[in-house]
Amino acid sequence: MSINFDHQTLGQRVLFGREQAVENTVKAVKEIGANKILLIADAFAMDLSDRIAAELPVVERIHEIVQHVPAQNADSATALAEQAGADAIITIGGGSSTGLAKIVALRTGIPIVAIPTTFAGSEATNVWGMTEQSRKSTGSDIRVLPAAVVYDVTLSTGLPGELAVSSGLNALAHAVDGFWAPRANPINRALGTEGTRALIPGLRGIAKNPEDLDSREETLFGAYLAAVAFSSAGSGMHHKICHTLGGAYNLPHAEMHAVVLPYVAAYNMPSSPDSERRVAEALGLSPQDTGQAASGLFQLRADLGAPPSLAAIGFKESDITEAAALSLQSIPDSNPRPVTEESLAKLLRAAWAGEPV
Ligand code: NAD
Repeated sequence: MSINFDHQTLGQRVLFGREQAVENTVKAVKEIGANKILLIADAFAMDLSDRIAAELPVVERIHEIVQHVPAQNADSATALAEQAGADAIITIGGGSSTGLAKIVALRTGIPIVAIPTTFAGSEATNVWGMTEQSRKSTGSDIRVLPAAVVYDVTLSTGLPGELAVSSGLNALAHAVDGFWAPRANPINRALGTEGTRALIPGLRGIAKNPEDLDSREETLFGAYLAAVAFSSAGSGMHHKICHTLGGAYNLPHAEMHAVVLPYVAAYNMPSSPDSERRVAEALGLSPQDTGQAASGLFQLRADLGAPPSLAAIGFKESDITEAAALSLQSIPDSNPRPVTEESLAKLLRAAWAGEPV
């Protein structure tokens, strides 16, 4: 069988180390040579923000972070960056903090140093997203890829166990959806596979003991690999559905991904046996369990105690038809199985009800 692909590796410095967030951020900023830093930090991270501001030339700070990046927040952050003459942005927080910085970077070209505190993985992608009038638009641009990422697992300890596992399942969705995404290739599949191998045991460890730093660190590492795979492979059917649901119905991001993944897997895996095999192996299923990877993902979600259904996180049954029509517009043609408005509505209904896969 011949191997044939077109792959691009995105350049980014990654500094990974326990309790090294401040010193590694200083290293990353020194390399950029910044003198006027805009700090965008989630409100829970005041202590780390203060410690970083004591070491680096922070000229402005934003601590008001709203999920899915409302356009007005992006406008005011951009104006602040321009008025201050900022030459670097440091972000501390989950995908919402990174996401706000990405819009400023998209508009101004100012480089980002990201310090992630969830497993969302936005820091490793060149994908931006912004919400205006209840519609989330997304795009990719190299300007939004952080120049450096500083990973320190101790920053994730404040993330409650339930949110931690949902966030980790969001990361798992990056890897799995990447297997059938439009630019899937042997390199991003390899990264995604290794990501699933770290994420699944890491998440099981967090569910068993939310204080277990080793499991959180394994999850953080897996989340990075999965995000790199996703960034390279592009958004598949799962992400297109979730972007629609997040933008139009304002559902909580990580929890929504955690719920939807097994249903998309059940839909696509019969037409994508290689993806099914990779996930089955990471789940520890035996070769005799062919066809069980999607139900294994459903069981994993249940075992981890993540939300059981879209209904449980605020999605209304009356919105299923509209959501199916909206999602259909963006499902990639390369999806391994053809998708119709009816098949999407069926999938969304099952996810809404939390039907077993
Ligand atoms: P988030 O950043 O919205 O954080 C979720 C909640 O957890 C918030 O209340 C936040 O304050 C809190 N929190 C975060 N880290 C914490 C910590 N360590 N301790 C205590 N509380 C903490 O959630 P998220 O899931 O990381 O990000 C979601 C957003 O990121 C969405 O808008 C999504 O679209 C975007 N995203 C983008 C990409 C991309 O590639 N562009 C990838 C993944 C997610």
